[in-house]
Amino acid sequence: MLPLFYGIFNYIYIHYHLFAIPDKWYYWIVLLLFTDFVWYCYHWLGHRINILWAAHIVHHQSEDYNLTVAARVTIFQAYIRTLFWCVLPLIGFNVDMVMGILIFHGAYSFFTHTQLGKNLHFLEYVFITPSLHGIHHASNAKYLDKNFGDVFVFWDKLFGTFQKEEEKPVYGLTQPFESHSFLWQHFHYYIELFYLAKTKTGGWNKINVFFVSPEYMDSSIRPKLEKKWLKTEKRQLAAPLKSYLNFQLSLCLLLLAITTYLFNNTSWLIQAEVFVFIILTLINVGAIIEQKKYIFYLELIRLWQAFLFVALVTDTLLVILVFSIVIQLLLYFLPIKLWYYKMLYKEVI
Ligand SMILES: [Zn+2]
Ligand SMILES: [Zn+2]
Repeated sequence: MLPLFYGIFNYIYIHYHLFAIPDKWYYWIVLLLFTDFVWYCYHWLGHRINILWAAHIVHHQSEDYNLTVAARVTIFQAYIRTLFWCVLPLIGFNVDMVMGILIFHGAYSFFTHTQLGKNLHFLEYVFITPSLHGIHHASNAKYLDKNFGDVFVFWDKLFGTFQKEEEKPVYGLTQPFESHSFLWQHFHYYIELFYLAKTKTGGWNKINVFFVSPEYMDSSIRPKLEKKWLKTEKRQLAAPLKSYLNFQLSLCLLLLAITTYLFNNTSWLIQAEVFVFIILTLINVGAIIEQKKYIFYLELIRLWQAFLFVALVTDTLLVILVFSIVIQLLLYFLPIKLWYYKMLYKEVI
């Protein structure tokens, strides 16, 4: 995505910049202030407009508060954020300055999504601290819609959204979230919006649903949809499965790191292959936790993906494809399917 964002910012700067701001140290400070203010606006709107909240809600679903929450950003959110960042090259900051400040700005949030420095209150006169951003992630009534800033705290103080930590934060959404499904986590709010729009009469009322504040969302919709579509049975996961899940997630991280490192030396086909494999694995991990019956078929598809990956890397497409089809047919017809279900459900289906 970075080359795409770089291209967009560069295009805007070359064709539409209002000023040509030189690369001097004091303009970097101005840029940091602008960037943080744009962030504040983007973040505030992300909580005030349903269609934007649908993308941002994923960042708030976790009931734990740690570094992993910082990385909980969907691809939709990345694109929406980029739209807001376009204002920086439009003002006249060149693309290298914009990318540089965005890397710093993004890195700062890895500090605020931790439990570090609970006694760093002296910093709170100027900076957003882990404690202040933790409040933003809390569902306690007095903490709702507070502390939208990323680096500096004065935007919140200026616009009346500042809140200090006064009681223990309870992290997560105000309406509990009942699923481990990767797909449901990403799309449930969009589906709720469409469901709500369907119940409205008149075109304007239907469209309005997407642009009003999330506080007008009907809270009875989510449980209804979860009951209809998720039907999760809560059973204890077998110990080997927990290790299997950890292995799968570690594999995803490793693949992501290697592909990112070798990005310029790999073909788009291999990049696409890795992307599909990681997405399927994330769907699979959620489905295993929820013990869905379609997992076995998803596993077969993933296995096929793994064979395809080896074929692409080693340039032995035909040999590997024939081999993979034979293996998959064997797996499908041999008792391994029953063994897999037995391990998963602790009983034969
Ligand atoms: Zn937020
Ligand atoms: Zn956050």
